Amino acid sequence: MFNETAKSEGKGQVAPYVPTRPPLQDRFGRTFDYVRIAVIEQCNLRCTYCMPEEGVQFKEKDMVLRSNEIERVIKVLASMGVKKVRFTGGEPLVRPDIVDLVKYAVNTPGIKGVHLTTNGILFPKFAEPLRKAGLTGVNISLDTLHEDKFEQITRRKGIGKVMESIEMAVALGFPRVKVNVVLMRGFNENELIDFCELTKDKAVTVRFIEFMPFDAHQIWESGQHFASAADLTGQIESHYKGIKEASGTRTEHHIYQAPGYAGKIAVIPAFTRSLCGNCSRIRVTADGSIMNCLYSEEPYLLKDVMRKGGTDEDVEALFRKAFGEKHIDGFESKKAASIKAKVNVSDISRNRSSMTQIGG
Ligand code: SAM
Ligand code: SF4
Repeated sequence: MFNETAKSEGKGQVAPYVPTRPPLQDRFGRTFDYVRIAVIEQCNLRCTYCMPEEGVQFKEKDMVLRSNEIERVIKVLASMGVKKVRFTGGEPLVRPDIVDLVKYAVNTPGIKGVHLTTNGILFPKFAEPLRKAGLTGVNISLDTLHEDKFEQITRRKGIGKVMESIEMAVALGFPRVKVNVVLMRGFNENELIDFCELTKDKAVTVRFIEFMPFDAHQIWESGQHFASAADLTGQIESHYKGIKEASGTRTEHHIYQAPGYAGKIAVIPAFTRSLCGNCSRIRVTADGSIMNCLYSEEPYLLKDVMRKGGTDEDVEALFRKAFGEKHIDGFESKKAASIKAKVNVSDISRNRSSMTQIGG
């Protein structure tokens, strides 16, 4: 049961939560009220654009944030006005305490939405407990509607489970169900309209995400697979004549609904970065670092602060430092990282072996 409602049930109206600490803002006046927490690096798939097939150096268990540390981060951030939590990974459903983490977040005063990004393989097993725990949104990643291509992209079987997950998420009435598609030229670009057609009968948002250069094999580098948001919106608009703009989240810059369709279509310019001005995201990596931007390489070692006996005020201070130093956009973040590392800007994301440390 969703927290604000739960608290008001049978007890009359509950006063809205007032954060006890000032909001988290940067020097440009932007407010950050949405945290994405990668709870694990491990994954049960090996998507080619994310992880190598073998030889991934996962951190030892003790190097990853423990449940009580994740809970503390949520509690402190909620007291700073954070309203939305997303659990991601790696594959968050591989972490044994994920339902308890969701419950904790749902019951934290001030948190209004708790979401999860999953590859959908284990979701059918967890769907009901997650719904009962109060999860408000689920993003299910699926890059193709064809079994053979699914195996090619993920290096594993399981498309049936992912399709089942989408159906279950809708049937169980999760308030927000989204399908994340990384659109790549030469891989799945020809499925753009087939994916859009999923929104005809299903009340889901299909989101096309630009391919970003955080892939272990650097297939991004070849330049052959990148499809820009501008390309994708062009194709959508020319296929669905008269398609209307719809409302979406801050990063769903291009969002549409085809006439008479149940769901929505969104395009996320994750690489071309026209969304930076609207960013409200705080990222916490599985090994407990704060990231003030997806393209930043500055380490803010939150886990160390907590494990060295830091107080909640120390945790708050590190978030303020990280966001006090945030750059205006992802291009500037990358430039700053290249100057510090004394390498070319184009070499910056190369150091990162995978999105599994960051969680997307
Ligand atoms: N395992 C879960 C999943 O796949 O949904 C959660 C973690 S995954 C890193 C989060 C999102 O990042 C997924 O939607 C995935 O498709 C996306 N992603 C991973 N690598 C990417 C890349 N190089 N470019 C764009 N999106 C990427
Ligand atoms: Fe695993 Fe998600 Fe990365 Fe695919 S995108 S390998 S499912 S973490």
